[in-house]
Amino acid sequence: MKKSVFSAYISAMLINLLLIFVSCSLPTVSFADTIATSEKKFITILDNYTFRDQKKYNFLKIFNSNKFKSNIQVSPFIDCRAHIKDIMCLVAPSDDPSGGIYREKNKRSCLEGGKEYAKYFEELYDNYPTLLQRMFCSLTTIYIEQRFFGTAYAGLEHDEKGNVIGGVLGIRQSVLDNNLSLATWASWKEQLSFGGIINSYDIKPELPIILSTSNHNSNDNSHISTSVNDFLYFVVTHEFGHIFDFSNNLNKTKNCHQSADGTNNSCEMEVDSWGAISWKTENQPKNINDFPGRNGLCFYTCNGKYLDLAAVNQIYSDLNKTDFISTYSSVNPYDDFADSLAYYLLAKNINSSYVIDTKTGSQYDVIQKLQSTTWTMKYQYLDKFISREDIIYPNAQTGP
Ligand SMILES: [Zn+2]
Repeated sequence: MKKSVFSAYISAMLINLLLIFVSCSLPTVSFADTIATSEKKFITILDNYTFRDQKKYNFLKIFNSNKFKSNIQVSPFIDCRAHIKDIMCLVAPSDDPSGGIYREKNKRSCLEGGKEYAKYFEELYDNYPTLLQRMFCSLTTIYIEQRFFGTAYAGLEHDEKGNVIGGVLGIRQSVLDNNLSLATWASWKEQLSFGGIINSYDIKPELPIILSTSNHNSNDNSHISTSVNDFLYFVVTHEFGHIFDFSNNLNKTKNCHQSADGTNNSCEMEVDSWGAISWKTENQPKNINDFPGRNGLCFYTCNGKYLDLAAVNQIYSDLNKTDFISTYSSVNPYDDFADSLAYYLLAKNINSSYVIDTKTGSQYDVIQKLQSTTWTMKYQYLDKFISREDIIYPNAQTGP
């Protein structure tokens, strides 16, 4: 699609995002108006995400997969690399007091300088497998957020009628400006639940850290270049994982029940869904995968209440016995898929090593776990997923 047509189209539409943050921070905004404008009700609000501080977070998910699926088509795969510079958008913090940074009825205005960030995504594109390259065609916007409490986010964008018209990616500007490595960013993020420093990317020496290096595997991908930022590779893969999940209903649910006060909605995971591997419901892992420290993990939403340092050793020892690949993936089935896809491709395509050093005398090799029998079902699921020929991308090109 020509740029002018594309731009005019997206400026006219209502931005509604289904989303889950990478670095999952679920927003405190209310999406009630989204529901009001969508009588088709193929989306619904879940208000069941309760962190340790008892704050409740809303997030949306696909409710009726048939209706949802009928509204999206496979992207025709135009030149997805050339599309990147056209969708870059540097944005000031939203003035939405509830924190709805990405979702506004009037499109957020793009500031000067956004296109300068295209190079990060073009480099990523050059190093991505086709599966992920194609996703860039389906994005309507890549927001570079001047201020944002998480690292990145992704979601689906809808028109006024509630039809999915594409995907959206957003990322905190400073993570790009700081040219973070995966080791630095992952250490920083891992520390947040234990009292790490939220406002800078400094690492506390007494808290767990991630030891990680990456080397490109030129055998797998002939187009691979000599360098790629492994942090960006991981984070954008995680975000694209959410879009794949939403678009293909990988975490299909059934038997949803509302709590007595109507605020809490909990669904069981459908047989054969991704989530059914590890989860009973969207909120509750199977017993074998649960562990006492899990509910205390908070990352970007700790509000001053952190996990006790004395619990570090136990948490990673417990986590190691589950089939969750990371602390982050143990938070909900959606981040379980997104994080799992990111680690899987990190290992497969850029030969990354990734070891958690608890700083209490233990180390856990995440890549080793990924290739172990504990993780066989998930590994096989992802093998199968990436080789599917019917993967659905949210279509950014179904406009008038
Ligand atoms: Zn996420």
